[in-house]
Amino acid sequence: MQEASFKPPERPYFAISDFYKQKFGEKVFKVPVALAGDCPNRMGLKGMKTCIFCDEHGSFAYPQNQEKALREQIGLHMERVSERFNSKKFLVYFQAYTTTFTAVKKLKEAFDVALEFDGVVGVVIGTRPDCLSPALFDVFNEYLQKTFVAIELGVQSFDNKQLDWMRRGHSSEDAKKSVAKLKENCPDLNIGIHLMFGWPGETLDDVARSAEICNELGVDNVKLHNLHVLKNTPLQEMFDRKEFKPVDKSEYFEMVGVFLDHLSPRIAVHRLVAIASRWDELVAPQWTRHKMTNYQHAIDHLNQNQHYQGKVFDETL
Ligand code: SF4
Repeated sequence: MQEASFKPPERPYFAISDFYKQKFGEKVFKVPVALAGDCPNRMGLKGMKTCIFCDEHGSFAYPQNQEKALREQIGLHMERVSERFNSKKFLVYFQAYTTTFTAVKKLKEAFDVALEFDGVVGVVIGTRPDCLSPALFDVFNEYLQKTFVAIELGVQSFDNKQLDWMRRGHSSEDAKKSVAKLKENCPDLNIGIHLMFGWPGETLDDVARSAEICNELGVDNVKLHNLHVLKNTPLQEMFDRKEFKPVDKSEYFEMVGVFLDHLSPRIAVHRLVAIASRWDELVAPQWTRHKMTNYQHAIDHLNQNQHYQGKVFDETL
């Protein structure tokens, strides 16, 4: 352990916004779009079922745009953020459902549409760890010749009991193998994973171990999410039957702190806490409703409890 010699960074974690600034020279905004309209779970392939936390929009932040043509989705969002933030650079983020559960030809056409827009500096593909074929590796490599390409895998947990409970339909081993295959076949691909905290029985040791697995896999970034209950989801039914109690705020932020302590300082972090895409969808916990106050609360908790990214990370292990 190298705690004594490690100097805490000014911000207690390496934010993805800082990574983007380093890479692109200025702030970059993500433009979330929907390409896929389904996923293997929702279709019930091989007996799979909808993940217990997933709403009808497949985790898409802008369901009101879901039916619009891709060009229109991108144009509308870019216009909105440009007006608000005077932004110049963008990544088109294929967020909804399972993006790679789409024909390769359609995926390539979508990338081409995204790259037609001035200011778009790359694409980000949201998908599941078990929806990656060798044909996709060729597509990623082809586009990596001309732009930035990132993937975000919904791993959610490295614990198979938790994965079963949430009905993910893939295992921890599947996720690890997918990252290894991506690194082997697409060495320039930027690889991110999504993790959720707040499963029943999840301990701080589990969270620390998740960070260590991220280090071992050599992913480029992680996105953290507290498990919240959305309307009309299987998790809401469990919550209503009092079979699920959401994690409280202080427990969650301590999990984030322990995770960051163990996480390599080179792995960028997208966010520390999630909010529901639409407030009227959120059932519980209510504390997750307030984006900025939660962000500040997270930073205060990290600083007051001397948590910072890489605090107990040992790169020699
Ligand atoms: S979380 Fe992803 S894989 Fe699970 S049901 Fe929703 S869209 Fe499908």
